[in-house]
Amino acid sequence: MANKKRSPKRSEQLQARKLDSKLVKIGNDKARLFVLSPGGSRLHPMEVGSTAVIEGRAASVPCPQCDGRLAVKDHSVDRQGKVALRRVKLRCVDCASPQSMWFRVAPPRPN
Ligand SMILES: [Zn+2]
Repeated sequence: MANKKRSPKRSEQLQARKLDSKLVKIGNDKARLFVLSPGGSRLHPMEVGSTAVIEGRAASVPCPQCDGRLAVKDHSVDRQGKVALRRVKLRCVDCASPQSMWFRVAPPRPN
């Protein structure tokens, strides 16, 4: 048997590796999208009517890396900008990646 072809096992491994890097890329795109979406950065805080809903909102957002559940680790006031914001630190329960979300408390205006 002089004919050396690529074994099926090896090509399977190559395919798996290709898929892996594809998934990582999707993860990165999602992470970028997360930063640009409301709450994803200090520049784009999510507006909420009251501080009471902040942690619930933050925990309802899926992990931008793996769609897993984010658990609230810390909730603090962020005074680096002109307006005081609320910063919630989160950690994914599945992939353990740390995330942060920013909120601006804007009580509903009377009509
Ligand atoms: Zn995750």
